[in-house]
Amino acid sequence: ALTAGIVGLPNVGKSTLFNAITKAGAEMANYPFATIDPNVGMVEVPDKRLDRIQELIPAKKVVPTTFEFTDIAGIVKGASKGEGLGNKFLENIRQVDAIVHVVRAFEDDNITHVANKVDPVADIETINLELSLSDLEAVNKRFAKVERAAKGNDDEAKEQLAVIEKIKPVLEAGGSVRDVDLDEEEQKIVKGFFLLTSKPVLYVANISEDSMGDPESDELFQAVKKYANEHGAEAIGIAAESEEEIAELDDADKQEFLDAAGVEEPGLDKLIRAAYKLLNLETFFTAGGKETKAWTYLKGTKAPQAAGIIHSDFERGFIRAEVMSFADLDKLGSEQAVKEAGKLRVEGKEYVMQDGDIVNFRFNV
Ligand code: GDP
Repeated sequence: ALTAGIVGLPNVGKSTLFNAITKAGAEMANYPFATIDPNVGMVEVPDKRLDRIQELIPAKKVVPTTFEFTDIAGIVKGASKGEGLGNKFLENIRQVDAIVHVVRAFEDDNITHVANKVDPVADIETINLELSLSDLEAVNKRFAKVERAAKGNDDEAKEQLAVIEKIKPVLEAGGSVRDVDLDEEEQKIVKGFFLLTSKPVLYVANISEDSMGDPESDELFQAVKKYANEHGAEAIGIAAESEEEIAELDDADKQEFLDAAGVEEPGLDKLIRAAYKLLNLETFFTAGGKETKAWTYLKGTKAPQAAGIIHSDFERGFIRAEVMSFADLDKLGSEQAVKEAGKLRVEGKEYVMQDGDIVNFRFNV
């Protein structure tokens, strides 16, 4: 399963955020595999479309989809030199598919900041520099090997060399590979290098409780957002400590808390959706009968493989998929109306799943 790793300097609120995530997760139905690794937290993906589907195609039960966050222990400067827990930190980041980079944007004199001042953009740069130094080392090693092979007329090596020559100067300047303009072919090659700074990233500013109702008005959040946008990334403002408190409440109390804070939904929900998108995940639904259920697939997945996510038999015996889009169901108001409007499609093996598809798979057993 794809996972997003929570990364950041010590004392910025990573554990607090991770606790909020696992607490929200603990509220969920029984996931027997949810507690194997204490560093992994399973979350439900909040999706209002499920409520609407349930309204139009009632089922006995509604089951949201889930995915995982991984808590990655903090580092200090010097990780790329293998100081302290540095190597382990970098290795743990290598294992995740996307990075949720948390920075401190709350003032609190009682909580020490590792750099003695609250400056979230400087914090981002500290970590990104460590990651880029680590990548530079890896790329330099590869460069020596590939250069030799390229001289021996190895075409693959030549292609790799061309990519290395593009990313190396960026890393030398302390930049990130994800900021380099690469075409699809080059991106595939870079993927094979397993670099840390090529992973997609999302910045989370841990803002003070006072800013919770309106993160946009928070100066420190704005600084993080500006940095993120300049680097083609998204930023989210979250008050981690409050989110942890919210996650413990039952639904009624939760709503009261949110109303009092003047927010529509927990910041955690926003974060979950953003991380889901960052991982390139999308959702299809199966609806009606025993349960209406949301399923996660990787963008670009074809119908038979999507069927296989439900059960391997579905993929093996795949015949066709009967599909309607959530948008059509929502607009037309019933399954019957969708049919009558000719919007219930029959799709074959080559069909690429679309986010919001409501599917009935037909298969041989
Ligand atoms: P980590 O080292 O990044 O995992 O940081 P922690 O989650 O352990 O948080 C460090 C300290 O900051 C703890 O004492 C938290 O209670 C506190 N903290 C975390 N988030 C907030 C917040 O939003 N506001 C305030 N005032 N304190 C926070």
